[in-house]
Amino acid sequence: MTNPTSAIGIFGGTFDPVHYGHLRAALEAMEMLQLQDFRLLPAGMPPHRASTFASADHRLAMLKLALSSCPELKVDDREVRRAGSSFMVDTLAEIRREESDAPILMMIGQDAANVLDQWHEWQRLFDLAHLVIMRRPESKHIYSGALFEQVQPRIVDDPVQLRHSPSGLILPLEVTQLSISSTEIRRQIRAGLSPRFLLPDTVIDYITEHGLY
Ligand code: ATP
Ligand code: MG
Repeated sequence: MTNPTSAIGIFGGTFDPVHYGHLRAALEAMEMLQLQDFRLLPAGMPPHRASTFASADHRLAMLKLALSSCPELKVDDREVRRAGSSFMVDTLAEIRREESDAPILMMIGQDAANVLDQWHEWQRLFDLAHLVIMRRPESKHIYSGALFEQVQPRIVDDPVQLRHSPSGLILPLEVTQLSISSTEIRRQIRAGLSPRFLLPDTVIDYITEHGLY
């Protein structure tokens, strides 16, 4: 069995901007999975989107502000520091090289899990990490074709099982359902409405100061 304290949680996203849906899910996952090392990892230039709205540096700055009062949640800025686009599979491979055979738990929301087969070399993800799928309002689990065949046999329901191997399993995790999205926050800002109470005030102040969105 692998050392229970050595497991690593990685929660990737564009965080454009980060909001309480991300933050609450991250905190609950960290606690429920008893992870001593939990990192939010902002995407540099996400390959699956045309571009982000705010630059990588701004998204990283907002994430750091949001987490400043919660030192247990850390930021992994490796994709932002690297130029060009980064695929999650390459990022995980890099983390795997650093961590040898520690369990790596990659967190994703249900909406992202449903389209996992659109990610670059998605089948390799299971060789590198376990997947923790967090429920998200308005998204049911719908896995089609090859994705269903990959997902189904890997599903486990006890977090302890993720400690016995470095990668390859899938754990669905119930987190508090907060119907908040960055898309909706950006829309409100464009419309001149206040996004207050959907994301930290410090992040809202940063957005205002830099004229983002
Ligand atoms: P956008 O609307 O720009 O797509 P988003 O709110 O979906 O932004 P992302 O940065 O795309 O945020 O999400 C990063 C990760 O966090 C994804 O795995 C996504 O499923 C998950 N996530 C986002 N919002 C929530 C939420 N409210 N509850 C649970 N998971 C969430
Ligand atoms: Mg999204």
